[in-house]
Parts: sequence; structure tokens; C-alpha cells
Amino acid sequence: MDFSTLCIHGNIEKYDNTGAVSVPIFQSATFAHPGVGESTGFDYTRQQNPTREHLENVIKKLEGGVDAIAFATGMAAISAVMELFSPGDHIIASDDLYGGSHRLFHHISMKNGIGFDLVNTSELSLLEGLIRPNTKALFVETPTNPMMQVTDIAAVAEIAKKHQLLLIVDNTFLTPYYQQPLKLGADIVIHSGTKYLGGHNDTLAGFTVVNDEEIAERLRFIYKTTGACLSPFDSWLLIRGIKTLPIRMDKQQENAEKIANWLCEQEKITAVHYVGLPTHEGYEISKRQATGSGGMISFEVDSEETAKHILEGVSIIQYAESLGGVETLITYPMLQTHGDIPEEEREAKGINNRLLRLSVGIESAQDLIAELARVIKGE
Ligand SMILES: *Cc1c(COP(=O)(O)O)cnc(C)c1O
Repeated sequence: MDFSTLCIHGNIEKYDNTGAVSVPIFQSATFAHPGVGESTGFDYTRQQNPTREHLENVIKKLEGGVDAIAFATGMAAISAVMELFSPGDHIIASDDLYGGSHRLFHHISMKNGIGFDLVNTSELSLLEGLIRPNTKALFVETPTNPMMQVTDIAAVAEIAKKHQLLLIVDNTFLTPYYQQPLKLGADIVIHSGTKYLGGHNDTLAGFTVVNDEEIAERLRFIYKTTGACLSPFDSWLLIRGIKTLPIRMDKQQENAEKIANWLCEQEKITAVHYVGLPTHEGYEISKRQATGSGGMISFEVDSEETAKHILEGVSIIQYAESLGGVETLITYPMLQTHGDIPEEEREAKGINNRLLRLSVGIESAQDLIAELARVIKGE
């Protein structure tokens, strides 16, 4: 089956016999047993629920894994993955990470005895140079948030195999529609399902997908024990969102390409970071490992004043955190997603008071560009 068919028919299990075309929301915390020691396959919703299982089966198919788990949020998924490690273990991660992952690593995982080194994972020799005897995993985001650095997943997977490390890839920005890290050699894929997979800025969700039975079993144990499971209703919203994933992302990408090209021609725009621009540093690698560039653009304006004018002047575009939904959102990474990162570290990465990030939605590109033109002028 083709990807877009799997988005709709990826789960073949049937949970009722009414013929319902949309999977029911099984809003039940617990399930009655038919007899002593017997189960319908469902016992208690923290462990599994039919609506959530439907969703997990779809995600598993889309990423090409042996198991997918649906969490309450993306951070819950990443936290569960961190439970695979023990005090004394060392992890190497991208230095341009989602702010929440940075906060988790530095304020919780480190307290639990896990050590981290952050590096630009697109520089393979730097990455390999940081591997120590106690290194257990590589944690990569590609493209990164918000600087859009691209890491060669297959090349990093080779390094991971050579040193027997787990390769964990946060695939939130491109989703399996454009990029499938497991097929490139990754061991664990993570998603914030809140973003493109849900796609409507109306719910939070997270996923882990793995292609190894043993890791799957360990994650399932952590999941049922710690309990950050996705509710039946939110599972249903995700199921509905995923049905239109390909058409939404195609439109978002088409809009993003138009906007990125337009931004490049504007006098007050001093830099445009979009993976789909041939001038982008990671363009060639991205072409090789992904089938699309997505809908995320970061750009730098000439002054803090222009940045503020844009953020306060937009109306169709909304000044709000998050990304991947049908509504176009603009964020100020310095104050929002990356507000907790030490200033020096943040500035060194280019996340300064002139950097803005745009998550392009499915509105008309013409309307979005007209609005950007107006607010860039300061009107
Ligand atoms: C949003 C996001 C997360 C965290 O997901 P939540 O659903 O907000 O908990 C993790 N990684 C990336 C790349 C994200 O954009």
C-alpha cells in the first residue's frame, strides 16, 4: 500500500462490528473479563485501549517499525526513552535541539546521572570524537529547530553501529511522509504528534517507533509503568489528523517554498534558513535522505525592532509557539522555545533577537506573503 493509503487504512484490526467507518472512541478506563484468567485483549487503558491501538498500528506502518507507542506529549515520549538509560551512561545530542529536550536533558536526565555532550551532529568527525566508553546513544534532530541544520542519518547510523550505540532521531519536522529514519539505520524514532501528525493545533501527542523487539518490549514496560499514555479522544484526533497528512504537508511545503524564495529577495531579511533552498548547507543531504523539505522556515531580520514589528503586526499569521498545524504560526525562538537556554549558548547558535521562525500553514501563499510584506515594512 502507498503511504497516503496507509494514512487512512494502516490499521486492519476491527474493534467492533457496526461497520463504523471512523474508528470509535473507546472512552473506557477498564475492560470486563469474559472469564477467570481471560481477556478481550484489553484490560486497562493505561496499558492499551482500542482507539489508541488503532493509532499506534497506523504510525507503526508509516514509519516502518515493529512497534509504535502513543504518548500524551512529545516530551513524555522523549522522557520514556531516557528511562532506557542508567546512571553513568553518556549520550551525545544535537546542539540545536528543541528547547524542551534541552531542558529535559539538563535538568532531569543529568540529575539522574546521565551525562551529555552537545555537538553539531552534521559534523561527523566532531560527533565521533566525543564518543567515550560509557556512551550509549546518539540523539539527533534533523532538520534542527530552529537553525535547520541537516544531519546525514545514514552516516550517523554507521557510526552508531560501529560503536554499538542507539541512534535516536526526532522526526517531528519532516514526519514519515518525507523522512523515514528507521530505514536509514536509526533505532528509535521520536515524534511530537502535536505538530504535523495531529496537524490542527488542537491537541498534544507524542510517539516512539522502534524496529527492534527487545527495545519495543523495554519501552512498553516503561510506558505502562510510568503512565503518560494518550487518551482515547486524543488518539482519535490524531487518527483523524493523519488521514490528511500527505495533502496538508504538500500544501505547507508548496507555500513554504514560495515564502522562502520571496523572503530571500527582501532587503530587511538578512538570512533565510529553509532546507528546500539550493543555497542551504544541508540541501544535498536532505535531497538524498528525505523526499521533501517541509514547511519550517527560520529567518533573520535586520533589527530587533523589525522583529517586534512583525510579531505584533501579524493577523492571519499568529504569534504563537508550536508548529506543523494548518494555521501559520510565527515564533520568537529566543523568548519562546529556546527561552530556557543560556544566553551565550543561544547566541552562539544564531538564536538572537533578530531570528524568527515560521511554521507555514495551508492558507493561500499569496495572503501570507502580502501580510509578511506589510509587517516587514512596519505597517
Ligand atoms: C514540540 C516538539 C517536541 C515536544 O513535543 P510536545 O508534544 O510539545 O511535548 C519535541 N521535539 C520537537 C522537534 C518538537 O518540535
